[in-house]
This record gives sequence, structure tokens and C-alpha cells, in this order.
Amino acid sequence: MDASARIEAVYADVLRRNPGEEEFHQAVHEVLHSLGPVLSKRPEYAEAKLVERLVEPERQLMFRVPWTDDKGEVHVNRGYRVEFSSALGPYKGGLRFVPHLALGTVKFLAFEQIFKNALTGLGIGGGKGGADFDPKGRSDAEVMRFCQSFMTELYRHLGEHTDVPAGDINVGTREIGFLFGQYKRLTNRYEAGVLTGKGTGWGGSQARTEATGYGTVHFVQEMLATRGEELAGRRVVLSGSGNVSLFAIEKAQALGAHVVACSDSSGYVVDERGLDLDLLKEIKLERRARLDTYAEARPAAEFSSRGSVYDVACDIALPCATQNELTEKHAVGLVKNGVKAVAEGANMPCTPPAVEVFRDAGVLYGPGKAANAGGVATSALEMRQNAAREIWGFEETEGRLAAVMRDIHTECVTAAEEYGAPDDYVLGANVAGFLRVADAMQAQGLV
Ligand code: GLU
Repeated sequence: MDASARIEAVYADVLRRNPGEEEFHQAVHEVLHSLGPVLSKRPEYAEAKLVERLVEPERQLMFRVPWTDDKGEVHVNRGYRVEFSSALGPYKGGLRFVPHLALGTVKFLAFEQIFKNALTGLGIGGGKGGADFDPKGRSDAEVMRFCQSFMTELYRHLGEHTDVPAGDINVGTREIGFLFGQYKRLTNRYEAGVLTGKGTGWGGSQARTEATGYGTVHFVQEMLATRGEELAGRRVVLSGSGNVSLFAIEKAQALGAHVVACSDSSGYVVDERGLDLDLLKEIKLERRARLDTYAEARPAAEFSSRGSVYDVACDIALPCATQNELTEKHAVGLVKNGVKAVAEGANMPCTPPAVEVFRDAGVLYGPGKAANAGGVATSALEMRQNAAREIWGFEETEGRLAAVMRDIHTECVTAAEEYGAPDDYVLGANVAGFLRVADAMQAQGLV
């Protein structure tokens, strides 16, 4: 069987075995379609059925999470952890708490994480988890009880050398604290390296909170530099207003960019004088309020609950909200308005037709598994500090993060050039990540 027929057969099998899991299909499709030339060059991978093995998670966990709200009413949620690949290290990846979270979503995220983590070169496997729990409107005590119940099942599957979760959407330092406390109580071990994204006073790394957003901006800088361009003076638009987005704004502003718009689930705000980051942080991190309150405090800014943040003209777009949020229509609009670069702070935020639009228009496009790898890379740095019982300063940690992002960019470009499509960061990221995982799998035998 030639390489492309083999890939088609693997993909058909993924569709058959994982019915209804469209996001997982989408993520697998994108990776498989970069691998044809690699498999033609390396027949030993085909023989060892590496791709066939790689698309099947090593382990998938689903469990009941019962908890009581402040009124004493009982609720039942579903928890997930997909331990996808341990070829390069312990399973590593975040937990997200969002309503209606389904297994297929967790699987797509865990699958992406394999390649992202491989690109960091920091010895971490791929996993992801979460629950269909909506923390919106819940008190701290309710979130704590939920986290404790969630960990009461999950703890038996974790360990600093086994599986190391972190945060993701709606899971930040507060939730990691509750999860860590329960893990410690259940195991009677202060095993700092079992979770990352901890508070900096009790084992967390400096710059971890900032890392994903900062890293995405570093990646954009590198992409622009390949065309002799820089970030300073560029108009930037982002989606989202969580951790990733806020700290991408911070870094972009520090580098002289003009950041004019961001969004949340209620709409988007445009501030032509440049977003006021202190105000945004206060609204989003302290008050946990909606974005319309930004426009109330800054009368020259405009809030809109209609249309999309991608309707705002920009040079650089950073989708930092959630999967499949940037559609073909948005991409066409962005291109028409002269966008030069798009880098994904979220996981798989651009739909495949949107990516095609960017590719056809020659727009630089950095896929999430490369562009947002700074978060998990800094998690690996947190694990390193925990293992050595060391605490590094902010500058040192941020310096290492910037170096990792530069290396990931170089890896992508080198792999893309070798396989004949310079500028194609999708190809570069998939091939470079895959080769690292595949070589480890080959060396470790049929497991
Ligand atoms: N949730 C982040 C991601 O999508 C970080 C995961 C981690 O630090 O383990 O990569």
C-alpha cells in the first residue's frame, strides 16, 4: 500500500471507530494529511503501524462527579481524562470545565497535545481532560466541592511521572489549588510536580500564567521576521479575554503593537486608542464580569454583541477563544481587510476552510500546536523546578520560554522546508512533532 492509500485507510478507520466525534476527526485529518511524504520516506514507520497506533489513545477515562451546591442540592457531572500518548514523557495537558464537554472534544485536544508537547522538546507526553461542569455563577465553595469530587476519582490515575494535568478553559490557579489540596489529602504526599499552574507561593512557576499568551506573540514575531517585518506599530485583534488573550495583549503592547479589539462570549469591544489592559484585567480577572462593562468605563470604546471581532480590520489576528470560532467567512473578511499574520492562541480555533483561505492568500498562519505551546512548555519548566526543588525568577523563566518558542519556530520552518513547502507551518509543526514521537515509539517497541 502506498503512503497516501495507507493514510486514507487509517482515516476511514478513525471515522468508523469514533462515530460522532467530529472535532477529533478534524484534528486527526489535519495531521494525517501532512504525513504522506514522511511515510514515503520512512517505510519502517508504515511497517510498524505507527500512525495506526498513534490515533488510538493509550487510555480513556470517563467518570461520575457528584457534588452538592450551596443549597444542598445534588448535581452529577461527567469527568474525562484522555491519556493519549506517553512516548515522550508523562501524559501532560490541561483540564477544561465547560458545559456539554464531550469525549470527542477531549480526544481532539489530547491528540493535538501530543504534537504540541513533542515540539517543545521538553519530554512530555500528550493528554487532556475536564468535565461538563459550568462554573459560571458558582460560588468559590461550590467550585471547591466540585474540584474535590473530581479529584477523588482522578487522583488514582495521576502522578508526577504518570500524568500531570494543568489548567485550560475555566480552570486556573484557583481550581488547580483545590485539585492539588485534594490530591495531597488523598495521597498524603506533597507531590508538587503532579499538577502545573500552581500558585507561585506553593510550587508554581513564575510566568506560567502569562506563558501561553506571551508565547503566541513570540511566535508571531518569529513568523513576521521571516518576511523582514516586525510587530511594532501593527494593528492587532484578538478573540477571547481569558488568560491567553489578556497576556497576549500584554506582550503585544510591550512590543509596540496597537491592540484594538478583543471579545468574550457576550460580544466584542473595539477601542481605537488601544485596549486599556489594566481595566480589562480588573473586569476579567478580578470582577469576572462581562466585556460590556469595559465600554461603560471607556466611553470612546464600542461594545457590540452583533457580528464578530474578526470584522475589525487588522494586520494580525490572534484567535485565543475556542475551537472552530474563526470560520471561512471571517477569514475572507480578514484577508479583504489586509491581515498579514494569524497565530492561534487557542486550540484549533480556525476551521479547515478558514485555514485554506489564509493559505491561498499567502497569509502567515501559525497553528495552535506550535503557536500556543508556550503554556505547556512553561508547565514543563514548572515540573523541572519542582523536581529540582528550585525556584527561578520571572526573567529567567520568561527567557527560557522565549527560547523554546524560537526553537519551535525553527523546527517548523526546517521541517516545512525539508518537505518542500516553506511557510507552511501546519506541515512543519505536524511533521516535526510526529518525527519526535515516532522515533521514540520505534525505540520503545510494540507498546
Ligand atoms: N491547556 C494548555 C494547552 O492547551 C496547557 C496545558 C499544560 O500546561 O499542561 O496547552
